[in-house]
Amino acid sequence: MNTPASTATVFDVERIRADFPLLARTVHGKPLVYFDNANTSQKPVSVIEAVASHYRLHNANVSRAVHQLGEEATTAYEGVRDKLAAFINAPSRNEVILTSGTTQATNLVAYSFVLPRLKAGDAILTTAMEHHANIVPWQLVAQRGGATVKAAPIDERGELIVERYLAMLTPEVKLACVTHVSNVLGTVNPVREIARECRKRGIPLLVDGSQAVPHRAVDVQALGCDFYAFTGHKMLAPTGTGVLWARREHLAAMPPFFGGGEMIREVRFDGTTFAEPPHKFEAGTPNIAGFIGMGAAIDYYQSLGIEAVHAWEQQLLAYATERLRDIPGLRIIGEAAEKEPVISFLLDGAQATDLATLLDLEGVAVRSGHHCAHPLMQFFGVPSTLRASLAFYNTREEIDAFVVALLKVRKLLM
Ligand code: PLP
Repeated sequence: MNTPASTATVFDVERIRADFPLLARTVHGKPLVYFDNANTSQKPVSVIEAVASHYRLHNANVSRAVHQLGEEATTAYEGVRDKLAAFINAPSRNEVILTSGTTQATNLVAYSFVLPRLKAGDAILTTAMEHHANIVPWQLVAQRGGATVKAAPIDERGELIVERYLAMLTPEVKLACVTHVSNVLGTVNPVREIARECRKRGIPLLVDGSQAVPHRAVDVQALGCDFYAFTGHKMLAPTGTGVLWARREHLAAMPPFFGGGEMIREVRFDGTTFAEPPHKFEAGTPNIAGFIGMGAAIDYYQSLGIEAVHAWEQQLLAYATERLRDIPGLRIIGEAAEKEPVISFLLDGAQATDLATLLDLEGVAVRSGHHCAHPLMQFFGVPSTLRASLAFYNTREEIDAFVVALLKVRKLLM
């Protein structure tokens, strides 16, 4: 099996790239430049092998069988919950709910935590820079409960106007939400400050950590929020994996959302009793192999050191921003003081989708579109942007190749 690049004393990106087989392939005959990491990350061999070896050697359902394979699968799967709890510094593994992703996590909070508490006139507060997964679930439950969804504004630089957010934390707000890092702008929001103010007012805070966990150390206790949701496939893990961390007292008070196997204590036609959290919220057979892959993903991050990952990515972000700023007619959308390596931009005279299609022919994978953030596009008055999103396995040379390709395809569209 491939050894992660743990022994590297410096950030040896070439050594790290060797752990990601897909990065070696070509696309349309050109070396791949994969800059669509905010969409989904590539997977190291250790993650691929963990999934394969589960199926090859240990496959069985979890928590149901007393046979050896069942025990092996359950031990491996539950071990990932421990790793996840440590990774985000959760006070207890029982506060870590395994979900299919951020979307399932926010929907769980919407239906199990928010909806039972809503009355007419209540509100849910989110922001203008959210992914639809941190907007639409709130709208769905608000409609049912006679409540409204309010959005705190951002400024032209793509920063949350924090004073406005705090001013909107009025007594009728039953849940406040904010993304830790914007998937379009890269903006890092001041979650600690927001959490402190929410606590003063007795308003629970949900943080969407989908774009933060892949890039920076996350400590849910230090952040001080109530709920923290993230998705595995953006942090080297397989698709269909995710986490909702929630404070114990909230989980104890929340009714189950999905019913079925695994989440019960006893089922009777005159009344069913439920398992304790986390299992109360995990009905049915989970993505066992996917989570075993997620455990390997965490090991991989830890072998590199998340601080080292962050430092390298910040260098890449600074370099890519500088190179793009030199291109006449290029406008970067999102110039926050603190960012993760996500750069949205527009190029005068060219449609984002045309550019992305032509860039693909040059081997460069970037995303174009609204990035599941319609309200943000409405704020900037654009239908779409082009987004280059970087990961720690990217290089300065790839940024150079991307800029060369961008200048070439722009000529074709002029
Ligand atoms: N929130 C943010 C900020 C995201 O970037 C994404 C994915 O793009 C999501 C939520 C949704 O994640 P998933 O589709 O894995 O549930």
